Amino acid sequence: MSHDAPAPKAKVSQTTSETTPAKQTTESSAEALPDVSPTDWQLVLVSPEHKISKEVSANQLVTVDGGQQIDRRIQQPYEELVAAAKKAGIQLKLISAFRSVSDQTSVFNTRVAQLMSRENLSEEAAKKRAMQTMTEPGYSEHHTGLAIDVVDQEWLASNPSMILDESYSEHTGAKWLQENARRFGFIVRYPDGKETITKITYEPWHLRYVGEESAEYIEAHHITFEEFIQELMEK
Ligand SMILES: [Zn+2]
Repeated sequence: MSHDAPAPKAKVSQTTSETTPAKQTTESSAEALPDVSPTDWQLVLVSPEHKISKEVSANQLVTVDGGQQIDRRIQQPYEELVAAAKKAGIQLKLISAFRSVSDQTSVFNTRVAQLMSRENLSEEAAKKRAMQTMTEPGYSEHHTGLAIDVVDQEWLASNPSMILDESYSEHTGAKWLQENARRFGFIVRYPDGKETITKITYEPWHLRYVGEESAEYIEAHHITFEEFIQELMEK
């Protein structure tokens, strides 16, 4: 089995996927469904179809780079990820992490009001339109404190407007994350071509912490987090 398709054989993958012993180890350890439960804290499912039941509490959060907050239980893996990237010559920048339901609500409502006045839409129509590009408050994985949006400095330097789209996947940082984030328990949460399942378009910069074993399994099997949770429930 090959590793994830979108990244061409890049130099960053040499140590993990091009030396035979490493590859065998990775694949055999990722073959069996991990002994984890969908009720584990790191496996909470929040998506456009699954509203968050309970927002992460403020004392569970820790402030990291740039004033962003994450669940303190993922601080160590996050810092290890950043350090490993740095070793590989990639300076990661955290551009978004925890977002509260109330913050998302005010951003969302502002957008809805704009659409209603500028385009003369009804409230319902404006909400629908807003939801094409934004997540409805309560349905964003960023409410969990387990999701991070990360890009590399090189990309930032050449894109001061910070408008992210699929083309980011061609960047060194994105390729490195696709191959390596799993080693620290993170997955690329919204993979290319899986929009019908995740309900969110490909976002090579959005990572989600799920734990190392689960991350290795999900990435090795090219499945989404939704499919993984389904497999666990059917176990
Ligand atoms: Zn995100």
